[in-house]
Amino acid sequence: MSRGKSWADRVNPAVRDMPPSGIRRFFDLVAEMKDVISLGVGEPDFVTPWHIREACVYALERGYTMYTSNQGLLELREAIAGDIEGNYGVRYDPRSEILITVGVSEGLDLAMRALLAPGDEVLIPEPSYVSYAPCTVLAGGRPVFIKTGVENSFQVTAEMVDAAVTPRTRVLLLCYPNNPTGAVLERATVQAIAEVARVRDLIVFSDEIYDKLTYEGEHVCFSSLPGMKERTVLLNGFSKAYAMTGWRVGYAAGNPDFIAAMTKIHQYTMLCAPITAQTAAVEALRNGRPEMRRMVEQYNRRRHLVLRSFRETGLPCFEPRGAFYAFPDITVTGLSSEEFAGQLLKEEKVAVVPGNAFGEQGEGYVRCAYAASLEDLSEALKRMDRFVKRRAGRGRILTASFAGTK
Ligand code: PLP
Repeated sequence: MSRGKSWADRVNPAVRDMPPSGIRRFFDLVAEMKDVISLGVGEPDFVTPWHIREACVYALERGYTMYTSNQGLLELREAIAGDIEGNYGVRYDPRSEILITVGVSEGLDLAMRALLAPGDEVLIPEPSYVSYAPCTVLAGGRPVFIKTGVENSFQVTAEMVDAAVTPRTRVLLLCYPNNPTGAVLERATVQAIAEVARVRDLIVFSDEIYDKLTYEGEHVCFSSLPGMKERTVLLNGFSKAYAMTGWRVGYAAGNPDFIAAMTKIHQYTMLCAPITAQTAAVEALRNGRPEMRRMVEQYNRRRHLVLRSFRETGLPCFEPRGAFYAFPDITVTGLSSEEFAGQLLKEEKVAVVPGNAFGEQGEGYVRCAYAASLEDLSEALKRMDRFVKRRAGRGRILTASFAGTK
């Protein structure tokens, strides 16, 4: 009797052909090594503030161990609506316009699946967060990358968006403050993009998970611009601002019919976000602001340290204004992104992410997450400095000239 197809042959081709995340692939390697300082994974080094953990403990003591409604606790949706309105002046109805998700990750997946028909195009500024293109493909869509670079401060512009639109374009996916570059969008740029979205009838998925980690200038919430609430699916969550990555809670806010469509998929696949995490998130929004601000201040201090250190080392680095990533240009070392990250790990036990994990535009860069303790960060920067200077000693580096490098 034939043994039939192998498991590998049975896998959906869309999944089989999908490369594993460049971040995870690299960190599987790191996990096998000792004494590595990781500037790799984009995860706060802080533990979730105690009052948030305590709220969850109390909830468990009171027996909160069941499912919530599919849309999530109304109490949490109300707190989110209050937070968005307080910060950006845009009002969402907590009963019909907000869905609690299992992190922004699920919100993004639901939005893609609820919107895209096979072959629909999603515009993704690149370098981009690693899950955008795979989520688009899994939902049957086609990612279309818009290349951004240091020459325009890694900001996507209205002209770039307009030039990339085709009759199949449905969605523009924005992520500012940006992972991996730390770029933020200026208000005039966001306004011009909003005009293109209106004229070209685009829906905007706006991943604003780093909104509270904006160090310079303001964060412009896309849906707060005139006429944009109707066109935007706002995605946000608790992972970064409140150091709650492991709790898995986020939300999507948007048009009630679309939120209902997303809720349908959510109800059949996830049912609801964990009640423990939802209870903690309520506490984060009610009383978490002072702690959150303290963490943001710490990141900002580290940001300055990293930039100063790269400058002294001779690694040109675009100045990140948000999130907790620096994206130095490493071409002066004569190494590719993967070579740089691989050799730095081997020789100095510092883990960074090769820039090409974020798409072709990331080649020539590495991503360094400065969500590490000052002590670890200082040591990692010293080791990077040694590594880069050693390459110089071998005659591979050259001019630490800031101009003229990409
Ligand atoms: N969006 C961006 C831009 C991210 O950087 C991340 C995590 O690194 C996520 C979404 C995932 O967030 P969550 O933990 O809410 O699923």
